[in-house]
Amino acid sequence: ILTVRNLKKSYGILDVLRDVSFDLHRGERLAILGPSGSGKSTCLRAINFLDPPTSGTITLEGELIGLHPNGKDHRSATRRKMTARELAPQRAEIGMVFQLFHLWPHLTARENVALQPRKVQRMSSSDANHLAEAMLKKVHLGHKLDEYPGRLSGGQQQRVAIARALAQKPKVLLFDEPTSALDPELVGEVLNVIQELADEGRSMVLVTHEIAFARRMADRVIFMDAGVIVEEGPAREVLANAKEPRLRKFLSTVS
Ligand code: ATP
Ligand code: MG
Repeated sequence: ILTVRNLKKSYGILDVLRDVSFDLHRGERLAILGPSGSGKSTCLRAINFLDPPTSGTITLEGELIGLHPNGKDHRSATRRKMTARELAPQRAEIGMVFQLFHLWPHLTARENVALQPRKVQRMSSSDANHLAEAMLKKVHLGHKLDEYPGRLSGGQQQRVAIARALAQKPKVLLFDEPTSALDPELVGEVLNVIQELADEGRSMVLVTHEIAFARRMADRVIFMDAGVIVEEGPAREVLANAKEPRLRKFLSTVS
């Protein structure tokens, strides 16, 4: 469903992604592991063009993300980048959940979730509110519809963020360390919701340090180090007997 090809990203002289390619198949759950600074977040941000890659292409169901398929830049041979307005509907197809929830503090849970459906999907307020309620119920927050983020626990805020991603009706979900900012006792409720989404057969990419969860949930694992994929394979195999010394070292420090 998602293809990532030859993704490169540099910040000045720092090459953060150095030729990353992978596929996500429909209904597949892919976990990305790797040490801090290896480029995992940069990779997810490049996929939805929050932070456009320096080069490389991403397609979702065959549709090129962020670039005009035929429109060459008039000065160079590269494809022309889309404007933010052109990108909005594509971004909606890629639901993103961040480490720090990024909710609007002045909006209630329901309003946070209903915002994108109203603004981008152009739903009526009442339809958007109904959708928001349904998505909040799905993440077990039907009792917190009118609460502001400041009055919710971290785990609840992250579940609002997941409901918000779902309200966009995404084709794939990307999670960037969704539990690493949470107190340990709040991790479980968020992982449960992610597991429920996985059980629905959604296509998802999960960046995580929760190895036990990755082993349970993921079909396939990618291990990144210093901007390249150093090992990739079925979750059980890769996590049970890693070949690459860097992955073995990583696994011994996190689990
Ligand atoms: P972590 O596990 O700590 O979240 P990560 O694998 O997600 O790490 P990235 O956040 O992708 O790592 O960062 C990779 C490298 O890119 C780091 O060296 C970081 O300092 C650098 N980097 C990330 N964003 C920027 C930016 N906007 N400008 C300059 N350098 C950046
Ligand atoms: Mg990161």
